[in-house]
Amino acid sequence: MSICENIKEIQYNISYAALKSGRTAKDIKLLAVTKTIPVNIIKEAVNCGITAIGENKVQEFLSKYEELGNILEYHFIGALQTNKVKYLINKVALIHSVDSFKLAQEINRQSSKIGTISDVLIEINIGNELSKSGVSKENIYGLLDKISVFPNISIKGLMTIPPFTANNEKTREYFKRMFNLFIDIRAKKLDNVNMDFLSMGMSMDYIIAIEEGANIVRIGNKIFGERKKED
Ligand SMILES: *Cc1c(COP(=O)(O)O)cnc(C)c1O
Repeated sequence: MSICENIKEIQYNISYAALKSGRTAKDIKLLAVTKTIPVNIIKEAVNCGITAIGENKVQEFLSKYEELGNILEYHFIGALQTNKVKYLINKVALIHSVDSFKLAQEINRQSSKIGTISDVLIEINIGNELSKSGVSKENIYGLLDKISVFPNISIKGLMTIPPFTANNEKTREYFKRMFNLFIDIRAKKLDNVNMDFLSMGMSMDYIIAIEEGANIVRIGNKIFGERKKED
């Protein structure tokens, strides 16, 4: 299938899953994950309706940003080192991967330098996996407490990558946990903590994620085909 056909099919599935969870397609943002994908192919996706892309490496993001410019909204979805934060500020719409005080502090510092406010999501390690980044459910409130005071950061929601499992119902259970956490945090009405976005769901599980409340899905393979193994 072509990229356009892939996107159409995904958009159809998104609409259907949104309806199942009491929403419509307009409520769900489709983020095309373009890591390893060259600019000419990204342009093809843009011609087929993609308006936002996610990248996970700073260097790769920067070169695509320079070539593609403002035809797109950019999201940063990968592990972020503090020394690279400065390259993202004012260029990305949302950083999905904030999981430490140190990282938040640097985003605040760099944003304040140029007088901007950066929107971020807090990455949650919902399966408490040793190998994964993200803050645990147990530590989220402590972290929110410390970083919500930063004037140049705006907390907009949560992101997760659930543990890999071939069992859909297990995956659904992790998404449910995320949604409950999202709702709990929202109900607390903390200063400078808005729960607008719940970023979860990738090629293999985006339909389940939307059914369980996601409103940003991050999809690579299902749009562009299998990537060469990189991690
Ligand atoms: C690569 C990646 C995705 C997309 O994964 P696919 O399986 O290609 O859809 C989503 N989120 C993050 C953080 C990623 O690194």
